[in-house]
Amino acid sequence: MSHLAIIGAGITGITTAYALLERGHSVTVLDRHRYPAMETSFANGGQLSASNAEVWNNWSTIFKGLRWILKRDAPLLMNPAPSWHKYSWLAEFVSNISRYRHNTTETTRLAIAARQHLFSIAEREGISFDHVRRGILHIYWDRPSFQRALEVNSMLVKGGLDRRPVTASEARCIEPAVHGDLYGGLYTPSDSTGDIHKFSVGLAKACEQRGAQFLFDANVDSITRSGMFRIGCTVGRAGGEQNLTIVEADGVVVCAGLASRHFAAMLGDRVNIYPVKGYSITVHLEDESSRHGAPWVSLLDDRAKIVTSRLGDGRFRVAGTAEFNGMNRDIRHDRIKPLVDWTRRLFPGVETNRVVPWAGLRPMMPDMMPRFGKGRQRGVYYNTGHGHLGWTLSAATAQVVADTISSELCSTESAA
Ligand SMILES: Cc1cc2nc3c(=O)[nH]c(=O)nc-3n(C[C@H](O)[C@H](O)[C@H](O)COP(=O)(O)OP(=O)(O)OC[C@H]3O[C@@H](n4cnc5c(N)ncnc54)[C@H](O)[C@@H]3O)c2cc1C
Repeated sequence: MSHLAIIGAGITGITTAYALLERGHSVTVLDRHRYPAMETSFANGGQLSASNAEVWNNWSTIFKGLRWILKRDAPLLMNPAPSWHKYSWLAEFVSNISRYRHNTTETTRLAIAARQHLFSIAEREGISFDHVRRGILHIYWDRPSFQRALEVNSMLVKGGLDRRPVTASEARCIEPAVHGDLYGGLYTPSDSTGDIHKFSVGLAKACEQRGAQFLFDANVDSITRSGMFRIGCTVGRAGGEQNLTIVEADGVVVCAGLASRHFAAMLGDRVNIYPVKGYSITVHLEDESSRHGAPWVSLLDDRAKIVTSRLGDGRFRVAGTAEFNGMNRDIRHDRIKPLVDWTRRLFPGVETNRVVPWAGLRPMMPDMMPRFGKGRQRGVYYNTGHGHLGWTLSAATAQVVADTISSELCSTESAA
């Protein structure tokens, strides 16, 4: 069996580590943070949502983006400052409009496949992650957007998803907490939600118990090869010292989120990830009225492009917005405010005096499809670029990558 070095301890890196351990490989997971899941897998929207599988490569997203370009509180925002990476990425995004239907259906299939893996891992390893299995309800406020959603729905249904149109009053029965004049909804009973950070930390512990090595505070600087792969990293030590450490491995799996593009270039591959920023707020439900007034069914408001998750009795997560502004991680008040205002409008019983804001960067490919599988060099693999659906898809892509690694590296061993 082989030893794999995995770069990145976000959701993609940890699910990959677990899938490899299950197949009898040994793994070392390297991350520049002291703990797992401290970047994009920290406080996302929480949705395990096959129902959100629609890729964004279509003309309506482009036209909406153009309309919103100068509106500071719009769901989609772009910093127009010149950047070769941003504009070339956007050009590639547009060139993938022809793949819109195919990629939406494929993403749906992948999301459905991921569920069973994720649920069974959580059960087997006893990971509690505030999992709520009450479905996801997409809500619409007018007839044209509902009609368009029905067209999108046909692609999701083709991918195997059970997702039904519901009237405004049926939507209210499914989730009575929502206030406002709804037009209708689409309900997916099989979708669910949970805390990605809790899950990732729990799964990292399970991996350690199964023999995985974790090297934290380890910034990977170089990858070279002379027979084995040699991964060079600067490791922080207590007292502020730093050591250069080399990890040797038979293969390397790049699960480094935004940094995957940089590592791919080092390894002779092109993985064109762009950071698409988003924000979340975690509303602490500290009194009875707030706990009662917050929804349990997860929502996606199509007009505001906002998703929600109930994380146990005491927390309510609200997330959204897409911002094209490079590697900027600043938490901007004018981007957080629309999430708070939306919460107040739809759930007037919820107090918003204790709200924790967060910003994360989605590692997005221009065709919105994750990159999972082999690189050009033997022994190089990727599980990355999951964009807005890393929580939803990782458990499935990790299985595919682990199978690919097993068949390729085991065939090398038997040939040797
Ligand atoms: C606002 C928002 C809401 C979202 N909502 C949802 C949702 O509801 N459902 C859903 O499915 N998805 C959602 N997503 C997307 C999802 O969170 C991401 O796709 C996923 O977390 C990405 O995981 P990752 O492992 O690829 O990256 P990360 O979690 O960022 O992990 C990459 C890791 O690589 C490490 N790394 C990078 N460079 C180095 C280096 N040089 N040396 C060592 N380590 C390195 C980093 O430290 C990091 O820990 C949302 C994202 C955002 C921003």
